[in-house]
Amino acid sequence: MLHGIRGVIFDIDGVLEYQGQVYPGAIDAIETLRQKGFVLRFLTNSTLHSRQSRTANLIAMGFHVFAGEVITASYATARYLRHRNPRSCWVMLEGEGLDEFSAFRQDMENPEYIVVGDNRSKFDFDHLNHALRLLLKGAKLVGTNPDLVDNSRGATELNVGAWVRLLEVASGVRAAYVGKPQPFVFELALTDMGLDKDQVVMVGDRIQSDIRGAQAFGIRSVLVKTGEFQVGDLDADIKPDFILDSITDLVGLLTKNTVKRSQQPGAWRNG
Ligand SMILES: [Mg+2]
Repeated sequence: MLHGIRGVIFDIDGVLEYQGQVYPGAIDAIETLRQKGFVLRFLTNSTLHSRQSRTANLIAMGFHVFAGEVITASYATARYLRHRNPRSCWVMLEGEGLDEFSAFRQDMENPEYIVVGDNRSKFDFDHLNHALRLLLKGAKLVGTNPDLVDNSRGATELNVGAWVRLLEVASGVRAAYVGKPQPFVFELALTDMGLDKDQVVMVGDRIQSDIRGAQAFGIRSVLVKTGEFQVGDLDADIKPDFILDSITDLVGLLTKNTVKRSQQPGAWRNG
């Protein structure tokens, strides 16, 4: 049993849905927790969507969510950039995620910041070389998330972190990363929830981003054995507070306060 929890931060891909398929019980789990008064946030490293479009997408799948609860890496990166009040930026990002950056002055020729998100079809020789030359002239580099590889859309793909790493190595410029496991996004979620660290739990399928980030930030974590989870993840140095077979087991973990931790079915406590 997770005591004192009043808010849940959900990863989306691999927890609620994966490759476009909603996990059985996921919609009900969200609704049950909402009705029980839990504060919910949905924190994803994906960047192609804005928070508005990702919310619309989740609603179309049957989830009861609000745009104010959804934090995509593109939204979070725009918030990060706003703190820095940039003179201008070049946002290397495709899709609706780009909408999040409409308040910034875009400048491909002499930007103060190069922001790299999922630019898929435009990660080509010319664009990457252009970015490299700008970095060598002093532009700052921001990565929306550090993930190297992603499977959430079907076939395995290079993710944002791989392209940012390439630019870092070639230019010698260190990037600032925003998405999980970086603390910025956890702070953003927590502040927005109005709760303390010991009142919030992160639920995710990726030990190196969801669980690592939660622990570094100082909140409890639940690993679900769905999505990108692999058995070898359990050998990692990072140990989640609980491990569940799927999101279906989460409601019991958060609400059955008469069951002792050691007796909790489907849950396994480390150490
Ligand atoms: Mg995930």
